[in-house]
Amino acid sequence: DVPDIATPMRTQAIMNSFGINTRKSLGQNFLTDIKILKNIVTAGDVQPTDNVIEIGPGIGALTEQLARSAKQVVAFEIDDRLMPVLEHTMAPYDNVTVINQDILSVDLETAIQEHFSDPDAPLKLVANLPYYITTPILMQVLQSNVQFANIVVMMQKEVASRLSAEVGTKDYGALTLAVQYRVDATLAFTVSRTAFIPNPNVDSAIVSLTPREPLEVLPHNEKQLFKLFKVGFTMRRKTLWNNLITAFGKDDEMKARLTEALADVDLDPRIRAEKLSLEKFIDLHNALVKTGV
Ligand code: SAM
Repeated sequence: DVPDIATPMRTQAIMNSFGINTRKSLGQNFLTDIKILKNIVTAGDVQPTDNVIEIGPGIGALTEQLARSAKQVVAFEIDDRLMPVLEHTMAPYDNVTVINQDILSVDLETAIQEHFSDPDAPLKLVANLPYYITTPILMQVLQSNVQFANIVVMMQKEVASRLSAEVGTKDYGALTLAVQYRVDATLAFTVSRTAFIPNPNVDSAIVSLTPREPLEVLPHNEKQLFKLFKVGFTMRRKTLWNNLITAFGKDDEMKARLTEALADVDLDPRIRAEKLSLEKFIDLHNALVKTGV
């Protein structure tokens, strides 16, 4: 019966005894609310048969809860000052592997083969992310060929709202589309800034990402499709037409091609990109390819 790390008193005591001060530049805000940690593990539906990847274990508050529920936890932490801390706090758990590496430099497929004793067990990703690199981490994870049974991650509430936004709302944009192209995203619950040491200056939310239904129509070129997401939202308040000609060209020939592509998929050029579903974006992309844009 090991006491939980995640109380304000124990967190402070651990940091003091190792002489650690948190670094803002590394997004270090440590969770000190045990109820929230338990809810995160529940949202991840972590089972004794699961492998779990954690990004940014900090002093191990979440890692410990994961270790108690999972088969094995592999955690990537960039800050070498935290290695002796984690060695101490994770000593009671024989199923935790901590790797001192920048997650953005990790090849996930190789790491999974290398560090999990049973690399074929169901894999989940559960993390309280470093907020300054939320989007790059998500893109790296979603663009890898790794099959996650689910991904449950804490992030800044504003970003969580964008990931889980419905078409036509103010939060809907290029990031929503890039994520929803790969997974279903739902906002599980929000977390007050008072649940951390130190308190961040934003509120947080847990997002759950689960495998999505296969798309009925596939894009000709994923890279170009992702570029089109960005083009559509270059100037949010402008029409789709305006953003398209700004990106692709204003000469008569280009305008003719764009007009043809839009007509092909029944789109009024005066529409705004926020009204276009993912499926419509894919249709538009395919029509643009067809007309040679
Ligand atoms: N999991 C702990 C918790 O919930 O209390 C800490 C979460 S804290 C928000 C983010 C953690 O990510 C910090 O420990 C930070 O050092 C680590 N981190 C920051 N950048 C990282 C990177 N590029 N790769 C791996 N870990 C990183």
